[in-house]
Amino acid sequence: MTQDILARIAAVVGPQGLLTGASEMAPYLEEQRGLFHGKALAVVRPGSTEEVAAVVRLCAEQGIGIVPQGGNTGLCGGASPDTTGSEIILNVSRMNKIRAIDPVNFTMTVEAGVILQTVQDTASDADCLYPLSFGAEGSAQIGGTIATNAGGAGVLRYGNARDLVMGLEVVLPDGRIWDGLRTLRKDNTGYDLKHLFIGSEGSLGIITAAVLKLFPKPTDIQTAFCALGSLDAALALLSRARAATGDSVTTFELIPRIGLEIAVKHVHGVTDPLAERHDWYVLMELSSSRADANLQESLETLLGDAMEEGEVVDAVIASSSERQQALWRIREGIPEAQKREGGSIKHDVSVPISAVPEFIRQASLAVEAAIPGIRPVPFGHVGDGNIHFNLSQPIGADKQAYIGEWARMNRIVHDIVVGIQGSISAEHGIGQLKKNELAHYKAPLELDLMKRIKAAFDPRGLMNPGKIV
Ligand code: FAD
Repeated sequence: MTQDILARIAAVVGPQGLLTGASEMAPYLEEQRGLFHGKALAVVRPGSTEEVAAVVRLCAEQGIGIVPQGGNTGLCGGASPDTTGSEIILNVSRMNKIRAIDPVNFTMTVEAGVILQTVQDTASDADCLYPLSFGAEGSAQIGGTIATNAGGAGVLRYGNARDLVMGLEVVLPDGRIWDGLRTLRKDNTGYDLKHLFIGSEGSLGIITAAVLKLFPKPTDIQTAFCALGSLDAALALLSRARAATGDSVTTFELIPRIGLEIAVKHVHGVTDPLAERHDWYVLMELSSSRADANLQESLETLLGDAMEEGEVVDAVIASSSERQQALWRIREGIPEAQKREGGSIKHDVSVPISAVPEFIRQASLAVEAAIPGIRPVPFGHVGDGNIHFNLSQPIGADKQAYIGEWARMNRIVHDIVVGIQGSISAEHGIGQLKKNELAHYKAPLELDLMKRIKAAFDPRGLMNPGKIV
């Protein structure tokens, strides 16, 4: 039966679209953090929407589970199959065409396998901006960013993937193709189906193409690295910056001293841009597409005012795009530096922006009491209330024993998050990693509604089995 179905899939996708050898499948089975090790019947790489639909129909007929996969950069095991070897991975990388770009409508229509950076570059070539941006943008694919409702560094100004999608094309679990590739900014014709697929992590269908929203390309970008007078000063500075520059604050990222130190220690080319040592920093970026914006003057004025109030105690403004990139490398280098520091237990959480300092204080005290010597590295998108509350192992601790504390640390941190009306997954999703946590914290009514939606789209549970609910 297995050989028969593989032969039928090969007849649809051609020899280059079907991988079954252990070594050729290996890169698709291994996920970023090495936390999940699945097996698969095959990796299938269709070249068109029609091929995706034909493969899905064959799998539905045979009762074979399908794991949709894009760039495989997700951090929750959502694109990894289970360990039975009975599921297929359906990877959309070969579907990588830009179908249309419309600079008047400010839209781009792309296939799901287009790499995020390619979308950004294509938009830029048309004097437009596609603002979704994060560390894995050179590998993550548009379908994956939509399926995870990805966030990143520009959410404060432009929103997350959900806010940037105008239409979708999706292959449903029974193999039908839903053509929702609308380019309309207004469309109130009942339930907005695209939003069900955005953030559904491949559990409701396979996204094959999308219409993305573009923006005018910024011409004035100013980046500053600021040492804060205190953790609470981050919020005062954020409010000040937004009030002083309107909607020009694009990025507002928190960096703790330990984050800077380990990035300097482990990441090539990262240096401390300030002379003195400080406890907390913010990487702030302002941008505008207005020719008369003069953001440098606005930034200098607002930082001067913030210094007078003690919110900022030292700062540097990047004088060139090279200096801007150097400041960004500090922020982007933290996850890599944490890897080199040994075991790291991760929490991608959000709380109301006003509660960020209180959350960091409470959670740090709680984990330090639970594991003496543990090193909290809370960093990230403070302008969205989204903190990566990552915990580096105590110096000299056994890495495997430390990682064994993952569930205990999650419970301590997530209890605090939920206690202040936060979310246990701000932007990375649920996948396999947080499935039990979701079941523990989500209100029974919400879980019930989620399960009913899943059953309505995928009554046989063949689309990304075992993920989310
Ligand atoms: P994959 O990893 O392949 O898949 C992720 C999920 O989406 C899986 O559940 C999969 O089944 C599903 N899926 C993939 N493609 C499709 C499709 N076409 N149709 C239906 N379902 C599909 N994320 C953020 O939000 N913000 C960040 O700042 C951020 N920074 C990161 C930095 C680094 C260094 C790394 C490694 C990851 C980061 N991520 C971040 C996480 C990750 O890059 C995003 O979740 C990204 O959106 C995943 O895209 P992908 O194409 O790699 O998807």
